[in-house]
Amino acid sequence: MMPLSNLRDEYDTVVVGAGPAGMAAALSALRTGVETVLMVDREVEPGGILNQCIHNGFGLHHFGEELTGPEYAQRFLTDLLDHHIDIATDCYVLDVTPDRLVTLMSPAVGVRQVLAGAVVLAMGARERTRGAIRIPGQRPSGVMTAGLAQKFVNQMGLLPGKRAVILGSGDIGLIMARRMTLEGVEVPGVFEIMPHANGLTRNIVQCLHDFDIPLHLSTTVVEIHGRDRVEKVTVAPVDDQLRPDLSRAHTVKCDTLLASIGLIPENELSQKLGLRLDPTTAGPVVTSTMETSRDGVFAAGNVVHIHDLVDFVSQEALLAGENAARYVTGRRPPADNIKLSSGANVASVVPHTISSDREHTVYLRVRKPMEKSWLRLGDVYEKRLRYVVPAEMVSLKVRPRFLEHFHGDSLTIDIVPRDEPGREEP
Ligand SMILES: Cc1cc2nc3c(=O)[nH]c(=O)nc-3n(C[C@H](O)[C@H](O)[C@H](O)COP(=O)(O)OP(=O)(O)OC[C@H]3O[C@@H](n4cnc5c(N)ncnc54)[C@H](O)[C@@H]3O)c2cc1C
Repeated sequence: MMPLSNLRDEYDTVVVGAGPAGMAAALSALRTGVETVLMVDREVEPGGILNQCIHNGFGLHHFGEELTGPEYAQRFLTDLLDHHIDIATDCYVLDVTPDRLVTLMSPAVGVRQVLAGAVVLAMGARERTRGAIRIPGQRPSGVMTAGLAQKFVNQMGLLPGKRAVILGSGDIGLIMARRMTLEGVEVPGVFEIMPHANGLTRNIVQCLHDFDIPLHLSTTVVEIHGRDRVEKVTVAPVDDQLRPDLSRAHTVKCDTLLASIGLIPENELSQKLGLRLDPTTAGPVVTSTMETSRDGVFAAGNVVHIHDLVDFVSQEALLAGENAARYVTGRRPPADNIKLSSGANVASVVPHTISSDREHTVYLRVRKPMEKSWLRLGDVYEKRLRYVVPAEMVSLKVRPRFLEHFHGDSLTIDIVPRDEPGREEP
């Protein structure tokens, strides 16, 4: 995007990653008044994972219309190019030090260092592989992650096989079940170890039901067969402890196994930086301004926690970029005074702290599906939820008026069944 020889030695803000989080953060930093921003990505084009998501379904919240992934990315890129921004692509960030010295490496200029007033980490996430769940069997070709198959089909014009079993019902697996079917590949089924699907409801309907692709819940792949190429897989139902019942196992013929078994925040840089990480999200602990445990280092997007919709990635990253710029220009808001923690049926909460005098959007993931529940923010606020599932983030607007009479320093968020009468919603 730019000749790397023109890199400055110092930038007000350096953004690591040019996916939707990086682009929104860079844009927002520029709009909030910093002068020099560098956005770096190891890929040759900005856009992140959106570049391979040629299906629609992006942007309903942020733009109020349905866009494909590349269209969504292009909207942000066009806005960014209206500002003065340096974009270094095909360029890998090797290291960020606590005093924000950023080490870059690219084929064009080798290794370079730039000093950043503030850093925004927006490295996204990577897919869990077969190795992460240790499926026994040979190591034939034809076993890959669903996202890699998506890249093959949508960006490289390559078909990974002719009959594909999908392991895991995450959104990427569901989208690829439909994509493979549209490309003439047979998809005998999607096998999900949990008793509930792990993707968005709209993807179950539009990608499986509309194409008559069966979803087998509480079932997993227990063995992969084939020496050079996958020939079949053995699948078996699991009990409520997720132990396979091999007496009821059967084989399914296929030449391809696509794993859609979750994403992990890409946090090598965060670990090297010594950031405090949250074991429930595997991302950095962040304040309400998306600042990490290191001064002047902010983070946003899938690197912080895995999002269901890109629109929420953008919202979170706009906040990170704005606050990175405020940090650089000495307009930092007062520190947070309330710590948030996960209670009943809440797997994770982001951000980890909030301030009682500002409005915040808090994102939660539940542990298990629940119909008709109360979402309770300590004793200060509660609201009715109709249906919650682990695959869909729950968002909660926390307004200063909820906290007017609260004098503590921590609040727990619970999601509990609605079989008891609730307090009045404020
Ligand atoms: C297959 C798939 C289908 C999806 N479908 C939908 C959908 O239909 N609707 C929807 O709303 N959302 C969807 N999503 C989710 C959405 O795409 C993600 O939430 C979003 O892309 C996350 O944005 P991000 O910027 O955090 O990460 P990414 O998009 O992953 O971008 C991170 C960027 O950081 C770069 N990077 C990482 N490390 C370094 C480094 N050390 N140096 C330089 N660069 C680095 C990467 O190259 C990448 O470009 C889908 C996601 C996937 C994977």
